[in-house]
Amino acid sequence: MVHGLLFWVEFRIDIDIKSVGVANTMLVKQLSQMSATQEYLNIHCHRRWSHGLELLSLDTAEITADAEIGGFYSLGLHPWFMASQDIRQALAKIAARAHDPAMLAIGECGLDKAIETGLAEQLPVFQSQIRLSEQFAKPLIIHCVQAFNELMRCKTANRPAQAWIVHGFRGKPALARQLIRQGFYLSFGKALRNETGYAGQALAAIPIERLFLETDADEASISEIYGLAAKITGLDVKNLQTCILGNFKRVFLHD
Ligand SMILES: [Zn+2]
Repeated sequence: MVHGLLFWVEFRIDIDIKSVGVANTMLVKQLSQMSATQEYLNIHCHRRWSHGLELLSLDTAEITADAEIGGFYSLGLHPWFMASQDIRQALAKIAARAHDPAMLAIGECGLDKAIETGLAEQLPVFQSQIRLSEQFAKPLIIHCVQAFNELMRCKTANRPAQAWIVHGFRGKPALARQLIRQGFYLSFGKALRNETGYAGQALAAIPIERLFLETDADEASISEIYGLAAKITGLDVKNLQTCILGNFKRVFLHD
């Protein structure tokens, strides 16, 4: 990990507007401002904090196909909300909105063994969202509960070009390493507060180049999460911001 750190400490965020494409001018503008101030990036939240760059996570059940959404967001069909929606319509909504440059990712979507809806029903819905992610070149933000083997099998079978980001990771370091070997990115949130939990150990076990941070639905602020992650990685917050912004640029701007 140390050599990864050194690389990123010296890495300067350099926004190349041409490489991003004209459609993403809004993103480029915000990133250009951020590169000067080195702000926070919150990869997954359920309300706006207006604190740095944020991806508001929306479910297809929450919005209409033409709803006005300020700022950046991800849109997906969450396994929790499958039962209450027309799956076909929900997927069509994602496809229709995917032309919006402010929609940066597909998700949260994924697999959850702790709910009533069976995995056999969840898998095709997840598979459809994998296809949309590849089709529209937008990364996947993944919700995964007790289904990591199935998730890894999906990744092997699909060999996606897009990044797969497991959000709210709190598993053991061995699982984190396994996911990293398979090319996943991991995002950590409030679980870092728990000093006896696995999240901190898992974060310490992965390369910083695969790290994102988030607030999810919790009341912890993104600055607190960065502070916790900085302590674990031994980086100061400014360097951590630079690293994560670099990850964001690579994953979302395909740079
Ligand atoms: Zn969430």
